[in-house]
Amino acid sequence: MARHIDPKCRLCRREGVKLYLKGYRCETAKCSIAKRRGVPGGRMSKRVRKLSSYGIHFREKQKLKRFYGVFEKQFRNYYYKAERKEGNTGENLLILLERRLDNVLYHFGYGHSRSHTRQVINHGHITVNGRKVDIPSFLVKQGDVIKPINKENDINMIKMNVESNKNRKQPSWLDLADDGLDARVLQLPNRDEISIDIQEQLVVELCSK
Ligand code: SF4
Repeated sequence: MARHIDPKCRLCRREGVKLYLKGYRCETAKCSIAKRRGVPGGRMSKRVRKLSSYGIHFREKQKLKRFYGVFEKQFRNYYYKAERKEGNTGENLLILLERRLDNVLYHFGYGHSRSHTRQVINHGHITVNGRKVDIPSFLVKQGDVIKPINKENDINMIKMNVESNKNRKQPSWLDLADDGLDARVLQLPNRDEISIDIQEQLVVELCSK
């Protein structure tokens, strides 16, 4: 499976926003965005660059891909799927990305970052509706019940992760039991419940060319 090997903070600095790629560090004063006030990395970082119209559209798409940790080919597939659905393509695209199992587990606090929850899933620690799922891009649906696999070590690991991420704000379309072991998808999200600061229309304009 392909994965980003670039330094994570550099990706945030390039987009000028927090993408929350590093777990705890993102919430502290050590965050590069907080320290450098969003100045892009690299030798030419002080130079003020005016983006072309294409550049503005392109950066918005990169921001969205990096936030959810998906690569171009997979992103295109999400776009085509969103385009075929009824309604606003941009909103459909965001909802599809938000429904990814790795993202849902991140909201529940099962991992410190989306890349961590991807690892938790890949290593076979998670079940959905009683069946083991080891595909991070699995799309959850309304009524799904997510639990750690029924082994003591897995349960303890998930409990520890949930406890250390308990301050993470959980969206209203998800529900987690107090013991952290029974996670449910109450309904599918709508646009207002998706917190990423993005102009999805710019992404759609670029992808539709
Ligand atoms: Fe991005 Fe800050 Fe987290 Fe680094 S610490 S990944 S800059 S949010």
